Amino acid sequence: MRYLRIFTFLLAFLSIGAASSAPSELRLADVITYLTFYDLTHVPVLQNQEGRQFWGMSSYYPEKHIWLSDAAGPHQRKLTLLHEFIHVHYFEQGFLEAASDESRVKREAERLYKKLYGNR
Ligand SMILES: [Zn+2]
Repeated sequence: MRYLRIFTFLLAFLSIGAASSAPSELRLADVITYLTFYDLTHVPVLQNQEGRQFWGMSSYYPEKHIWLSDAAGPHQRKLTLLHEFIHVHYFEQGFLEAASDESRVKREAERLYKKLYGNR
């Protein structure tokens, strides 16, 4: 009985550990892997049915696709592509809530952009 309690405690500890784990940082290897099964399409202008413009969009299921608007400047395009890959990265790692958390993805994209390009 005592062993069972220790075992249960260990299981609880392990599941807390798993629940608190966060998605990993997007790496070049991840980007290359995703490009083996995601399509990337450049479009002159990207907008929804209400006419709202977007710099980028991604779809994970069933269609795996990233769209990038060519209406943005070079800096914005790089930042947008990073942003879309972070959405995809969170989704593909199984962090569905993080994948749809727009402000979290935005923050991470800006942080990673600075790390990769400095202030360019
Ligand atoms: Zn987004």
